Amino acid sequence: TTVNTQAKTYQIGTDVTYPPFEFANDQNKYVGIDIDIINAVAKAEGFKVNTKQVGFNAAVQSAQAGQLDGIIAGMTITKDRQAKFDFGTPYFKTGVIMAVGKDSSITSLKQLKGKRVALKTGTAAAQYANSLKKKYGFKTVTFDDSNNMYQDVLTGNSVACFEDQPVMQYAINQGMKLKIVTKPANGGWYGFAVKKGTHKELIRQFNVGFKKIKKNGTYDKIVAKYLGNDG
Ligand code: GLN
Repeated sequence: TTVNTQAKTYQIGTDVTYPPFEFANDQNKYVGIDIDIINAVAKAEGFKVNTKQVGFNAAVQSAQAGQLDGIIAGMTITKDRQAKFDFGTPYFKTGVIMAVGKDSSITSLKQLKGKRVALKTGTAAAQYANSLKKKYGFKTVTFDDSNNMYQDVLTGNSVACFEDQPVMQYAINQGMKLKIVTKPANGGWYGFAVKKGTHKELIRQFNVGFKKIKKNGTYDKIVAKYLGNDG
């Protein structure tokens, strides 16, 4: 056997800003649970990653088009996506919630009738909201990133948004003037993804490396670093 001294560099797409999973910190350094996980796994397995902050939907589209090797972007493993992507070991639990302005009187889907709701393009939360649109009679407006979606609710242009619970809760804890008014729905897990049928070695290495960082406490340390010990 030959020893491969040239570590392979994979191009990994991620979201622009999806704290605590990926975001620019105070020093404008790109950090987060996803970033730390993929870096720790790469280090454990001897490959290199170049994380590209292209945005969630763009990452999904580019990986599908073969322009990116993988995605780590708080991406929910869904039935639909499993037809197009292969996922690594699920690494974080999530669910979809509805959030409204801090002082809003809206507490349920029924109160959305005739109102506008802000969604994020291509997300599991948008898919969930769109499935309820007709029944509850609301209108929608879409944004490519979470922050613009939140802003639309803060300015009052929309009355609510749909987001993943851990992400919305983190933003609220950081001072975002929104509140969660529904229980998490469509529960699922985040997974590292590659285009279906491609990059079998990368998925294998991710799973082997992930198992190691779970076992040696690195994963728990990463989560605690961003969420404290109640993460
Ligand atoms: N978890 C959601 C999804 O997979 C949103 C991901 C994101 O916005 N980065 O659709």
